[in-house]
Amino acid sequence: MAVRKILLYSEHRETLREKSGAVPLFNRTVRRIIRDLKDTLQAHSEGIGLAAPQINIQKRVVIFRPGLETDGEWRAGLPVALVNPEIVEASGKRRDFDGCLSFPGLYGETTRPHHLRVTGLDEAGRPCDHVYDGFNAVVVHHEIDHLDGILFIDRIENPQDLYTLRRNEQGDTIRVPFTVG
Ligand SMILES: [Zn+2]
Repeated sequence: MAVRKILLYSEHRETLREKSGAVPLFNRTVRRIIRDLKDTLQAHSEGIGLAAPQINIQKRVVIFRPGLETDGEWRAGLPVALVNPEIVEASGKRRDFDGCLSFPGLYGETTRPHHLRVTGLDEAGRPCDHVYDGFNAVVVHHEIDHLDGILFIDRIENPQDLYTLRRNEQGDTIRVPFTVG
């Protein structure tokens, strides 16, 4: 069990902006990265995805928890890994909810494709070719962005779409606009 420290944007912005390199060989090191990503994500129950650069490993490895939508409710499932993911199809851009473990407490509405076809290697090192729709496409797109140093704040179109949450005097959760300094 190796829970790694997640790099926060407030302290590690240069590192999070680096472009990660492709994994040349699927070996023990890659398996360990996947395991560490899973252990770290498991320690953050609110997280639905994590990219290797967020634990300070500049390699093209991501994990995410594909969800199932039932009665309009999206629930995250067990984490799966993608190594050297390549987006080969992207369409159906829409606004949706976004957040990131490198920005605790910060949320936003970003515009991302809601249909994605991705090739790469699965966590056993086998070539894979997957189609993701709806919020799963949003999550996978967010994680692959990390490999190129792109963060969800870059996908915000209007400053008022970035917010934190707090409770007002009536006990309702309200959005408070936030500016990244
Ligand atoms: Zn993120």
